[in-house]
Amino acid sequence: MDMTLCYICGWDFKEIYSGGDICPCCGSEYDFDDCLEKEEILEKYCGNDREKLYIMAPEVDDVDDEKEVARDITWRFIRLSWVKKGCPFKWAQKERIINWTIEDAKKQLDVIGYSYDSLVTLANKIISE
Ligand SMILES: [Zn+2]
Repeated sequence: MDMTLCYICGWDFKEIYSGGDICPCCGSEYDFDDCLEKEEILEKYCGNDREKLYIMAPEVDDVDDEKEVARDITWRFIRLSWVKKGCPFKWAQKERIINWTIEDAKKQLDVIGYSYDSLVTLANKIISE
């Protein structure tokens, strides 16, 4: 990884982060929360509904269930789950983030190329943790 923005929520770490680092905003731990096999995604985010999985990640259709899926796919599900929860700022006190709102989350997502509104549509289909 060579960028300072969280791939999942767009938070600016202000330094290059790596595996084991946890995003203070979405709370995801890189190389941990994002290491998922297809069957784990299927269970955790799709309630074992393969049709849902296909809608959200057609790329993994021909991937074996026991295979770990590409990071950009797991990031997609973690991002959708975060959106579904209302884009909460996980470690607000530690980072002294006050008055964090959904508008801030929308701006962050915009910076990494995602439209909040289109994410919400998909997010409503996934199963929350
Ligand atoms: Zn994040």
